[in-house]
Amino acid sequence: MSQPFQQILPGSAIGVLGSGQLGRMFAIAARRMGYRVHTLSPESDTPTGQVADVEITAPYQDLDAVRRFAQGVSVVTFEFENVPAITAQTAAEFAPVRPGGMVLHTTQNRLREKSFLATHGLPVTPFRRVESPRDLRAALDELGFPAVLKTAGYGYDGKGQIKLTSPEQVASALASVPQQELVLEAFVDFQCEVSVIGARGLDDSFANWGVIENSHRNHILDVSVAPASVDERVASQAIEITRTVLEKLDVIGLLCVEFFLTKTGDLLINELAPRPHNSGHLTFDACVTSQFEQQLRAVCGLPLGSTEMLRPAAMANLLGCLWQNKEPNWRAACSFPDVKLHLYGKLTPKAGRKMGHLTALADSPERASQQVRQARAALTHAP
Ligand code: AMP
Repeated sequence: MSQPFQQILPGSAIGVLGSGQLGRMFAIAARRMGYRVHTLSPESDTPTGQVADVEITAPYQDLDAVRRFAQGVSVVTFEFENVPAITAQTAAEFAPVRPGGMVLHTTQNRLREKSFLATHGLPVTPFRRVESPRDLRAALDELGFPAVLKTAGYGYDGKGQIKLTSPEQVASALASVPQQELVLEAFVDFQCEVSVIGARGLDDSFANWGVIENSHRNHILDVSVAPASVDERVASQAIEITRTVLEKLDVIGLLCVEFFLTKTGDLLINELAPRPHNSGHLTFDACVTSQFEQQLRAVCGLPLGSTEMLRPAAMANLLGCLWQNKEPNWRAACSFPDVKLHLYGKLTPKAGRKMGHLTALADSPERASQQVRQARAALTHAP
């Protein structure tokens, strides 16, 4: 008989690498279930630190601080996947790190991630590695225009990417991107963007919240709606792909797969995120078990909870530009009885910075989407 794995029970301390809003919502879910939360990141008074039991402020490369952090907890997880590999390795000497360092290593770099997906026969946007102007020209000859040039590492929310529409842009594009490994992707003329967030437990159990439909503005997620308006075939394919990615990467915890749905009805993977995802924030209010509680259950070796959606829902991000020198009209948004307000405790609103979100629950996804947009618009109304 196989050994039962050790469960990490309420009362234990959970370590979170990273200190943003994902860690904050994780900490809220964990504390509700009686766990303690320790966070480590280079900043202080952070969204996660404000609700954690212990906030350690140290660079990720400060391995003494990482050791102290890991010694004080029963398991380490993360809310920010760009922590250096050595940080996860050092933490792993003292506590299990879930998902493991290999998951981080693969998903931290677009080329590694895309190569991993292609090797496993999973559908991924056509791509080429670019290390020189010559590579770029050859890649453009193969993939054609338009195409998107992205940095292989540390890119998110459209940072470090340029759309190329004509050969004249090549020289200036190369000059404007940092000197590092790049990836050229075919530009996908998609019908819509969707995501599936999957959870995998230590016992190989799998859970997901179905397909979520996402719209972006300036490359940043703007509104997510669930359930997505895609047909059954697309939904079951997207879920199966997600399950396969979690299994092949051997994820214990959460992983989000972001897809393009092409105009011909095919799914192409754009990106993976091995943690709770912005498109899953609506699960906090709309589902029996949120993505954050599920991450906790998975990394603690507990049974996964039901992902049943209680009502259709929509989430709208609140970016720093909403502040524009004055406080948004919170009262106006709260006058929508089926809309929930989430703020992350960030002190300085900057354009493009995710400061909070609204979630609306309704009888249909369309109605939820309408409600959440109306509530967000109300934030700019004069009091
Ligand atoms: P990313 O940081 O790669 O997730 O890109 C952010 C957003 O830019 C995506 O959600 C898309 O809306 C858009 N985008 C990125 N890559 C492509 C592509 N190859 N084709 C079309 N749109 C893209």
